[in-house]
Amino acid sequence: MPTLYRQYRPQNFEEILGQNYIKTIIQNEILTNKIAHAYLFCGPRAVGKTTMARVLAKAVNCLQRKPNEFEPCNKCENCLNINNGRNLDIIEIDAASNTGVDNVRENVISSSRIGSNSNKYKVFIIDEVHMLSINAFNALLKVLEEPPLHVIFILCTTEIHKVPSTIISRCQRFDFKRISVVDMVKKLEKIVKMEGIKVEKGILEAVARQADGYLRDAESLLGQIISIGGDTITQEEADLVIPRSDFNEIVSLLEYLTKKDTVKAIQLVNNLIDNGLSLKNFVADLIQVVRKIMLAKVNPNLSESLGLNFGETLEMKINTLTDTLTLSQLVRYLEKFNQVNNELKNNFIIQLPLELAIIDLCLGEAPAVNQPLKTNMTPPSTPVQNSYTAPKSVPPAPNRTVAMNSDVSLEQILAKWSEDLVRVKPFNHSLSFVLQACVVSQLDGNKLLLTFKYKFHKDRVSSPEIKVGLENILLEVYGANLIIEALVDENLELQTVVPEKIETQASEPLKPNNIINNILKTFGGEVVS
Ligand SMILES: [Zn+2]
Repeated sequence: MPTLYRQYRPQNFEEILGQNYIKTIIQNEILTNKIAHAYLFCGPRAVGKTTMARVLAKAVNCLQRKPNEFEPCNKCENCLNINNGRNLDIIEIDAASNTGVDNVRENVISSSRIGSNSNKYKVFIIDEVHMLSINAFNALLKVLEEPPLHVIFILCTTEIHKVPSTIISRCQRFDFKRISVVDMVKKLEKIVKMEGIKVEKGILEAVARQADGYLRDAESLLGQIISIGGDTITQEEADLVIPRSDFNEIVSLLEYLTKKDTVKAIQLVNNLIDNGLSLKNFVADLIQVVRKIMLAKVNPNLSESLGLNFGETLEMKINTLTDTLTLSQLVRYLEKFNQVNNELKNNFIIQLPLELAIIDLCLGEAPAVNQPLKTNMTPPSTPVQNSYTAPKSVPPAPNRTVAMNSDVSLEQILAKWSEDLVRVKPFNHSLSFVLQACVVSQLDGNKLLLTFKYKFHKDRVSSPEIKVGLENILLEVYGANLIIEALVDENLELQTVVPEKIETQASEPLKPNNIINNILKTFGGEVVS
């Protein structure tokens, strides 16, 4: 069977997948007869740069194209010759195999001065143009500075940063994007139809996903599958070529996690192993799916624009998950799964990292979310993870609903802010550090706004245990019942909050009271001397 990507290479603009914005501009240039002297097509490999170049070369040289059309006819002598690679005026150079300056001089410069044989335009398509030597670029630049009439250069590159800016500035530049799963599936459907082969859409979508935006890879994979199977391609045949990954199982796992069903989630993972599924592929796909849901959550257009559409079948399944999961959950999942991915190969029990992640995700966040810690300092339910042994029974902190008067002003707070830091520091150095990286920005009633430069600082201070602990310290220092609200401002300019005098004060022994003990337990801090 001939290579599918050659056989089904687009012969006109309509058949070119994606790149709609680029197509529209070039088609318009053809219609208005405003063809540039030099084009620069950049972008990843296998997304249609040279295909676009050939169609453009054909369109400008087509003998039967009418003034109000942009598509080549694919029937006239010029079109047919270009399709067969026999047209002498369409010169394709692969710079990756032809880097010498002499070669470029010979191929490009001398021949660009000679008029075209039978065409309207002589077209030079230089693929992987970034591979040219400095001398070759200089020679090319000379031609581009005074381009001969009826000569078009189309420079293609996967590494635009290696192309000299003097060349770039003389070209009309187009950035090609990876091709979406949806677009790719359309093309694959067309191919299997032409080949008279029945393949389920789910399999074509899996092929497209595996190809990761590179059409040539997708066509190559499909070609391999077709060469194994008969007139109807089964899942088993497809499995031989593309690594099996069951997206149904991924969706199920995520559903179990949202329900915090640890047992079912772990059973699922072990069933996958028993069925011989590669856990590495499973985790890789799991990360892809969670990433997609996360980006869709940030902005639905974002995942689309990044070509993260998985194809209809899967999209429908993950839609409900997008509604159920919060952004912070998704971030946490992704961090965990990424960690699992890094740990997979070093484990003698292959599924262990994933099992640990599942347990952590199912159990880990429960107390922080559910426990009402607003009004009362109850001992944290998480086990103490440090060497410091806190008193076993902790008397409750003063009832916060009583002391509701907050006569304290922002100035007073700022004046004594260092004292808050001091009270925290001997017992939890890192919390003190976090608080130094914030600005006490506003007092709104009894709500104290703290602005942080970094989100992870804000998140830390916003977690219920720490928030309540801090509010209790504020109560002690100011005698006012203040509620902390943490904000993030990436442009925040941090000032030093702790003067040196306070630093010396901090080293004086402070008697740990119960509130501090509690914070200490929560943070897992350690008493240093
Ligand atoms: Zn033609």
